[in-house]
Amino acid sequence: MQEIKSQGYSVFVGDVLEQLQTFLENHTTQYSKFFILVDENTHKHCLPQVLHDVHHLVDAEIIEIESGEVNKCIDVVSQVWMTLSDAEADRKALFVNLGGGVIGDMGGFIASTYKRGIDFLNIPTTLLSQVDASVGGKLGIDLNGLKNQIGVFNFPQGVFVHTTFLNSLPFSQIRSGWAEVLKHALIRDKQQWNNLKSADLHKVDWNKEIAWSVGIKNEIVLEDPREKGVRKLLNFGHTIGHAIETLSIEHIGLKDLLHGEAIGAGMIAELYLSNMLAGLSKAEMDEVVEALVKLYEPVALREEFFDSYVQLMGNDKKNEGGLINFTLLKSIGEGVINYTADKAQIIEALKYFNSVVKNA
Ligand code: NAD
Repeated sequence: MQEIKSQGYSVFVGDVLEQLQTFLENHTTQYSKFFILVDENTHKHCLPQVLHDVHHLVDAEIIEIESGEVNKCIDVVSQVWMTLSDAEADRKALFVNLGGGVIGDMGGFIASTYKRGIDFLNIPTTLLSQVDASVGGKLGIDLNGLKNQIGVFNFPQGVFVHTTFLNSLPFSQIRSGWAEVLKHALIRDKQQWNNLKSADLHKVDWNKEIAWSVGIKNEIVLEDPREKGVRKLLNFGHTIGHAIETLSIEHIGLKDLLHGEAIGAGMIAELYLSNMLAGLSKAEMDEVVEALVKLYEPVALREEFFDSYVQLMGNDKKNEGGLINFTLLKSIGEGVINYTADKAQIIEALKYFNSVVKNA
């Protein structure tokens, strides 16, 4: 088990349910009631193990929501607030998020706003949420098809990354979360990129790689909690990736695209911008693009929607003063922030993307 210290709380990685039990024993008088937020998948695959190993949670009230990004919305938040209110949850209630990034982002937001904020814990159960979404305090929901428009910064009392939960996760979800692991290597650690670039995802030492990945994200977040500067490094691949993901949510052309798959696609287009604007060598661009194309097998974007993609990037919070803001790579292992690109350059990058991936 490894412990990574973050902003007033720790992230525990490994076989951590015992650790969770100890945490609750140490805080037993602090809480009046426990609530566990699950979706149908984490209810089935993860909750039984938690209830078996963490005795303090045996009597917790289980709140189940439907899985999926479309449910990361105010209607579901409202339903859960009502459930808490009906159950007479007071300010000493503890809210436990057992699930992927959707449960973590939304559950954290619910806990942070119910009665002006109750304590919460995260037990992230997807690779993506274990390496990324559960660290850094960004909580929230989507609005009108746009990602993460409503939210707060707030921190859990602890994060318990029980890597065994990955055993029931579909391979596509593993591959999706892996995009963030690769991103962490690309922006900060060339040696790690070399270690991971052709890894067999069926044979990864999860305890080791997740702890490494959480460590990188945590290091960056601690330097710049409110994303005024260096934290923007974590946005590599996300400006274009979020636009691709958002259009997929709206079912234009690309159905069922996972978050990490969209980020993988976004990184390919942003590698092109990195070469054009930030000095990334063509050889390094080609090396990373080849690895990402092989792993994610992305399909071409429909040209008639290029304007919509750029428009969506303009709606994104990273946009400053007309131009679109990007985090790019100067070299493998060295991310750089605050580069801007105009519409023509972005469209060129999207065309490049289409030229290296297969047709839909
Ligand atoms: P998700 O929460 O939708 O989970 C993916 C699927 O896996 C769901 O169907 C879920 O029910 C299922 N699942 C979860 N754990 C399982 C398990 N152990 N076994 C079997 N099935 C399981 O998606 P995600 O990829 O975890 O998270 C994506 C979300 O995270 C997005 O909303 C994204 O915006 C957000 N995110 C937030 C941050 C942040 O810093 N807050 C960072 C990155 C991503």
